[in-house]
Amino acid sequence: MRTFQLDRPGDLAEAVRILAEDEGARVIAGGTDLVTLMRDGIQQPSRVLDLRDLGLTEIEWQPDGGVRIGALCPNAVDDRRLAAEYPLVVAALRAGASPQIRNMATFGGNILQQTRCAYYRLPEFACNRRDPGTGCAALRGDSAKQAIFGVSDTCNAVHPSDLAVALSALEAEVLVHGPAGARRIPIREFHPLPGDTPHRVSALRDGELVTGIELPAAGRGRVSNYVKFRDRASFAFALASAAVVIERAGTVVLGARIALGGVAPKPWRAEHAERALVGNRLDEDSIAAASAAAVRGATPRKDNEYKVELVRRVVRRALSELE
Ligand code: SF4
Repeated sequence: MRTFQLDRPGDLAEAVRILAEDEGARVIAGGTDLVTLMRDGIQQPSRVLDLRDLGLTEIEWQPDGGVRIGALCPNAVDDRRLAAEYPLVVAALRAGASPQIRNMATFGGNILQQTRCAYYRLPEFACNRRDPGTGCAALRGDSAKQAIFGVSDTCNAVHPSDLAVALSALEAEVLVHGPAGARRIPIREFHPLPGDTPHRVSALRDGELVTGIELPAAGRGRVSNYVKFRDRASFAFALASAAVVIERAGTVVLGARIALGGVAPKPWRAEHAERALVGNRLDEDSIAAASAAAVRGATPRKDNEYKVELVRRVVRRALSELE
């Protein structure tokens, strides 16, 4: 492991200053991702910023009924009101990792996770995300777990976070702080598609860090569900998952948001499926139409064609289980 300098900034301004002046600096929160990457030599930061002195662990309820969750709040969060008003968040967190990992992992770190593409973590293989411009071993190799939406010639790795999928369906905003001050980024814009810059995992600008996540108030008549299909029953990353949020008046769907995980380089909003539900009753016919529409635009390869059917089924199950 390369030597690095460990900093414990005392306030946000100091953290931002260090990040802005040293592009090799990395933030560490729970360390469940960064430490493994450093151990394997995939990431070799010059400085590591331990943020534990900044607080950022609070859950703050807003006057409009929304909630702000600090970036360093652990994924093992135990908050009755959060569980009651945002069960989707808690379900996604529980599906994401073992209790031990959730004790360490944080909200900010979760949405900033690196891909679990096996080639990214093996330095002997070409990887545009790890070493820009070197190529993509997955395009010629095993693509069984790769993306079927938002695919590009530079990178077709999937985003690993369950939490980010739930936040996408809830239309959360990511709160960030940087050299130009504070700003908020809608979760849909927080994870860029690989395009020409597959090494960029987020919309953070130089010197910016995540300070929290804000969820809009839960509307009346809202129900939600998270379903995850994976290789084994114990903790594993999603082959396909679906977070669904439905707002109803009586039996009629007024609003629908469906986000997919494990199938794209970012949480993928299934907008065709959403449109198939709005204005209709939530019944077998509309659920069948939505699950069929959810795969519109998919571009699978031979190895991951099975994910098309998985998406249909995960959406159908997530919607069918709503009460
Ligand atoms: Fe790297 Fe992306 Fe290709 Fe995987 S899919 S090898 S992460 S460039």
